[in-house]
Amino acid sequence: LPKLPVFEAISRHDPDSTVVIHSKSGRRFQYGELLGDVAKARNRLYESAGRDDLDGERIAFLAENSYDYVVTLLAILAAKSIAVPMSPAFPASELQYILNHSEALMLLSTAKFTSKAQEVLKTELDVQPTFLQLDKLQGGGSHEKVTLDKSGPGAAGMMLYTSGTTNRPKGVLIPQAALTAQARSLVQAWEYAPSDHLLHLLPLHHIHGTINAIFTPLFTGSTIEFLYPFNADAVWKRLAAPFSEDQTTTPQSKITFLTAVPTIYSRLLSSFRTLPTDLQDAARESISPPHLRLTISGSAALPTPIKRAWADLSKGNILLERFGMTEVGMALSCGLDPNDRVDGSVGWPLPGVEARLVDVDTHQVIEKGQEKDLETGRERVGEIQLRGPTVFAEYWRNEEATKKEFVEGKDGRGPWFKTGDVAGDMYFILGRKSADIIKSGGEKVSALEVEREMLSLPQVAEVAVLAVPSGKWGQKVGAVVILDKEHCKEGKWSPLEMRRALKDRLANYKIPQVLRVVENIPRNAMGKINKKVLVKEVFREEFS
Ligand code: ATP
Ligand code: MG
Repeated sequence: LPKLPVFEAISRHDPDSTVVIHSKSGRRFQYGELLGDVAKARNRLYESAGRDDLDGERIAFLAENSYDYVVTLLAILAAKSIAVPMSPAFPASELQYILNHSEALMLLSTAKFTSKAQEVLKTELDVQPTFLQLDKLQGGGSHEKVTLDKSGPGAAGMMLYTSGTTNRPKGVLIPQAALTAQARSLVQAWEYAPSDHLLHLLPLHHIHGTINAIFTPLFTGSTIEFLYPFNADAVWKRLAAPFSEDQTTTPQSKITFLTAVPTIYSRLLSSFRTLPTDLQDAARESISPPHLRLTISGSAALPTPIKRAWADLSKGNILLERFGMTEVGMALSCGLDPNDRVDGSVGWPLPGVEARLVDVDTHQVIEKGQEKDLETGRERVGEIQLRGPTVFAEYWRNEEATKKEFVEGKDGRGPWFKTGDVAGDMYFILGRKSADIIKSGGEKVSALEVEREMLSLPQVAEVAVLAVPSGKWGQKVGAVVILDKEHCKEGKWSPLEMRRALKDRLANYKIPQVLRVVENIPRNAMGKINKKVLVKEVFREEFS
């Protein structure tokens, strides 16, 4: 195998320690068998392609959250190719888009998704990929010695598609060096350790599930336990299972590390209330200090009520919030010290990441000490811009978009990536420039700030705050709300009652002018809302 840092790290781990557990079946795989299986799978790629130079080729794959996924991902890197993990939950049309866009040379699938793969292969494709069914990737516990040769990574890397929250998903090319830099930054900041046992609940076609929760723990010899698809009751059952302090013995190892999106925490909190009491006690214990070492939230803004409720339930385990994106990996994070987790803040730059705020209107860098506008006394807000070794290389086959999103730095130390996200000092995220900053009558309103306040009202279970077109104001603030059944027994909430409830919390111009009560707010796999679509659906008449 080529000498990739991830392989070097794996070859140094205790071969008898567990790398992957399938939570449902209890099946375990050891670090000692991983590289042997990767080498075999890599050779099968060569055989199937009929050549042993796949440098830089895109190889797409469909695999369930399992040991096979891990082996497949690493085998593609071992072939110096670019891994394109796809979501098995995507409809054929979406998979077709990714295959066409990435010009994939091969499509791999585990047995479970072969028919899905065949379905896509029947659609019209620009390049017909070679199909390979991946089965029996598991070496059955053989601990083969695998040598790492001197050859470098070539073009090995990953291509991940963004969540598609604001538009068609963009193909983000993340070279091997950036992947490694991202993993090292997280290892340093969050102190992943061999003793860490992650409960993995996330889809595997985005960085959160793939890089934070698979690629990075591989560097430190941590254990990844897959429990997917997410099911709140099953998670509580697993967490509540009796565990021993000795991580190698059964019945269960203790979960020390959990990383998820806000909607997962929200669903866990509601499911907890319905658990039988004995299970509740054990479940509560398992997430309380010192058992669950680290509980991380990201991918979307963490509502403060969820953070508070989790801290109450877990006897003081405060969710650590971080900010990241496909293009740069994790960029900002609160600290390991629970005192460094301020409500509403996503923390500060991670090791190796440089960050700055740039005024959205004047394009001036907001320098340290100038965070307050002297004339108005208001806090200045700006777009987050980032640079460093973790940043991606390019939007695949889209030079124009790549160029547009980078801006040259004045210090000659390389360009900055424009995240499109706006924040105040200390990185209080205000939302996306394109969807969350509502311009109403000359004022700028942060949808995230309004959402945060609305969520702390007992009447509100879920909310999306959106820009609704207005002849008079340019845009007006709109809110789409799911009511809390317990606090809104009638199932009704008038705009007048809403205004009254928000009066002491928000300046007048920030209080939503239009309100719609709904039963469901559609979210994508990462729990995010496409506001451009939602606003047109809910406030249809305002668009005519
Ligand atoms: P697309 O780029 O296709 O519209 P996306 O931006 O949602 O989709 P990702 O790269 O998966 O795709 O997500 C990155 C975005 O997620 C960030 O730009 C930011 O808006 C949001 N985000 C991530 N973490 C947080 C957080 N802690 N708080 C608020 N927003 C967050
Ligand atoms: Mg994005």
